[in-house]
Amino acid sequence: MDLRVGTGALAERLSNLIGPRASLARGVLDQHGRSESYYPAMPPDIVVFPETTQEVGAIVRLCAEAGTPIVPFGAGTSLEGNAASVAGGVCIDFARMNKVLAVHEADMDVVVQPGITRKQLNAELRTTGLFFPIDPGADASIGGMSSTRASGTMAVRYGTMKDNVLALEVVLADGRVIRTARRARKSAAGYDLTRLFVGAEGTLGIITEITLKLHPIPQAISAATCSFPTLHDAVDTAIALIQSAVPAARIELLDDVMIRGINAYSRLGYQETPTLFLEFHGSEAAVAEQAQTAEAIAIEHRGRGFAWAKAAEDRSRLWHARDNTLYAGLGVRPGARAVITDVCVPISRLADCLTQTRRDADANGFIAPIVGHVGDGNFHMLILVDPDDPNELAGAKALQARMVARAIALDGTCTGEHGIGLGKVDYLQDELGDAVAVMRAIKAALDPNGLMNPGKILADGALP
Ligand SMILES: Cc1cc2nc3c(=O)[nH]c(=O)nc-3n(C[C@H](O)[C@H](O)[C@H](O)COP(=O)(O)OP(=O)(O)OC[C@H]3O[C@@H](n4cnc5c(N)ncnc54)[C@H](O)[C@@H]3O)c2cc1C
Repeated sequence: MDLRVGTGALAERLSNLIGPRASLARGVLDQHGRSESYYPAMPPDIVVFPETTQEVGAIVRLCAEAGTPIVPFGAGTSLEGNAASVAGGVCIDFARMNKVLAVHEADMDVVVQPGITRKQLNAELRTTGLFFPIDPGADASIGGMSSTRASGTMAVRYGTMKDNVLALEVVLADGRVIRTARRARKSAAGYDLTRLFVGAEGTLGIITEITLKLHPIPQAISAATCSFPTLHDAVDTAIALIQSAVPAARIELLDDVMIRGINAYSRLGYQETPTLFLEFHGSEAAVAEQAQTAEAIAIEHRGRGFAWAKAAEDRSRLWHARDNTLYAGLGVRPGARAVITDVCVPISRLADCLTQTRRDADANGFIAPIVGHVGDGNFHMLILVDPDDPNELAGAKALQARMVARAIALDGTCTGEHGIGLGKVDYLQDELGDAVAVMRAIKAALDPNGLMNPGKILADGALP
């Protein structure tokens, strides 16, 4: 086994600590170095599978003594190289810390370990009448979702991870364990450390316990699709829906290229034009009223073919198609890899940002399906590239850079939900200016030796 200098002794100490739950197996290392995006594989040197916070603390202390990088790992579904081991080191996989520790039904909150996935959590909550709504499509872990400040299809109604994490237990870079808050719904006690670690991508500390808000399962749910002649009409419908205070639970946009992809991938027959996927939650009467208003608004904006899915299996077919857009989009150009990028702008600027970006991709000859959480002003583009053609990859990155510059110029952000990871490092300064120096000071205070997920968010230097 080809280990970096000093890693052999650390491997022995880790294996003394947790036995076979410290792995050097090539397959395990490779599995933790891959991602769904275009980045080359960046495996760690060792993967450890702790079972308790105490073990995480002991692992961190051993790494600190050895000066070895630490990369936390949830489900590995992040899209900006967030969990890549750029400098090797020890990957902490939370698969064995996946328990629900306490459900407080009366308070509508739950305490979980970070490795539990959102689907596992909702399965465990089934009998309570409560659910956890944040849905990034992939079956991501709650630790990973907290660390990327994830959102997804239901953020327009229920908020993002930032709004739904009440408190965290965190192992710091020196092995100390802290709690960032109690379970109270609100608190004015000091700096908001919960929100500091939510979205920190494992660069400031390691989350070992999360307290989440829960929501009542709605009495009635109704979903619909509606197609539009242009992207502008679809976005104007989303804006009008929000301005008319219809509390839609999901407002998702798929452009014509993405619809072509999901028609082929999921064997569906949607009209191949920009299409909104909508969902409403509430009482039977409220959902019926919201649906009626939405249909009227869509028709005003040239929407046609409004198709309702009320039965649970029809809704699940509809959202299954939406959730598979990454794979469906890749199918539009077989053999391609995707440069997957997300930006978010104030919703009044969304139509401009979307249409200019679409034009830019077309003018430069890229096949680049678009899917957006348009209720939040957020959209993703999958720029499909030949992985063996460096010119195409360079062109795709240039297209991404223009998309980001456009979003920032419209007072938006270089990432609405995927995080900075490796892929957006170069844009943080453009977006936040001097605030980045404050971030560097926080990083230096909490991780003075730069061992926590190095190379992410604040790293300087070229992208891989
Ligand atoms: C098909 C598909 C669709 C997607 N759609 C969306 C979407 O709509 N919205 C969205 O927000 N995202 C989306 N994503 C991206 C992805 O699901 C999210 O980024 C998710 O939050 C990552 O969770 P994970 O468990 O896979 O984390 P990982 O990929 O394992 O890790 C993500 C980051 O969190 C850190 N981390 C993990 N666990 C911990 C911990 N315990 N403590 C500290 N740091 C930790 C890692 O080091 C890394 O920096 C999508 C991904 C796919 C594949």
